[in-house]
Order: sequence, then structure tokens, then C-alpha cells
Amino acid sequence: MKTSSSRPRTAAAVGRARRVTAAARVRFGGRLLGIALVGVVACLGQAAPAYADQFGQENGTSGAIPDSFPHLYCFSNTGSVWTTAFINAVDVQMRNLDEQTKYTDVRGKCTATTDVRFVLDPNLDARGSYHCTGHNGDGRCTTSVIRLNPTVLTTTHQRRKTACHEIGHSVGLAHGTASSFTDCMRSGFAPAGVQFERYNAHHVKHANSRVKTTS
Ligand SMILES: [Zn+2]
Ligand SMILES: [Zn+2]
Repeated sequence: MKTSSSRPRTAAAVGRARRVTAAARVRFGGRLLGIALVGVVACLGQAAPAYADQFGQENGTSGAIPDSFPHLYCFSNTGSVWTTAFINAVDVQMRNLDEQTKYTDVRGKCTATTDVRFVLDPNLDARGSYHCTGHNGDGRCTTSVIRLNPTVLTTTHQRRKTACHEIGHSVGLAHGTASSFTDCMRSGFAPAGVQFERYNAHHVKHANSRVKTTS
């Protein structure tokens, strides 16, 4: 009886001791993590960009640099049946380009000089596509077409992500394929998260520079 009654006390004491030790480890780990994060931020502040990509090369991976910062766009009704959901996605993302970069979004009727003509294409062999259809003497893009696929883009997030992605090509941005790409220039499906409906700082810098580079 003596043995059996003393064992639980011992076990409880050991349990308490373990819990205290575990709590202490968590607190200590937290301090270590804090120190590590400060170190990472400091390093990033001094280091070169974490990745190199192409910009303005117009080579299938990256889009073309447009001729000017005013970015005129329109909704083509030729062969397209536009829904409110898609018009909203395009408007929201053109406004985002306006807010994040030096580009200004100007919506109007489609003319021969509109910078970006949007087409809704249910038969497109992709989520979306971008093509520059006209260049000036400096090789800058004067007119382009963005196609969005309503068969594939069935949620607000996917519509916005792809609109953001193709609009990004229309200002010269390149594909992001590395897992470190956490903005809308990631290729293909993107998981939930508002960062996939925006441009990261690296891409904003490229867009505003309007200079071809592979940095
Ligand atoms: Zn780059
Ligand atoms: Zn793309």
C-alpha cells in the first residue's frame, strides 16, 4: 500500500517537472526565434534581391514594356460575353496596378490605340494569356490583348489572380515559378491569399523602371 500510494505522487511530481521544463523550452525557443528573425531581416536589408527574373524580354516568359504609364483598357465585345464578375475582377486589378505602381488605369471604349483589350475566351487553352499586338519604333508595346478563360476561372480569387497576372505581363513582368514567388506572377493555380492578387516589391520595382533586364 505504501508503495502504490507513493508512486502516483512521484509520477505527478515528475509530470509537473516535465511540464515546467517544456514551458521553459518554449520560452527559450521563442527568444531564439526572435533573435533569428531579427538576423534574417537585417540580412535581407543588405543582400541583393533573393531571385533574378526576366523583365520586358517579351519571350514567352515575360511580357512587353508598354509605351507609356497611362494604361488604357477596354472590354472587347467581339466574341466575348462579359459577366459582372469578370468585369469586376479586371477593374479591381487595373485599380491595383494603379495603386501599386506608377501606371494609371484608364477604362474606355475599345479603339485602335487602346493599350490593353480584354477578351473573355471560354475555349482558351490556358487560364489566361497576354500578347503584344503592336510596337512603336523603340520596340515598346503600343497595343495588346489579354484573354481570360471563364471555364477555368470560377472563383473571385482565381479571376483576380489571373487578371493580376496577365496585367502584370502587360507592363513587362515575368513568370514566377519558384516557390518563393508569393505574388500573382506565380504561374498557374495559386492557393488562397490576397498576396496572389498583388505584385511583390521586386515586380513593382521592375514595372516602374520600364527597363529591360534579367536581374
Ligand atoms: Zn527581377
Ligand atoms: Zn503568364
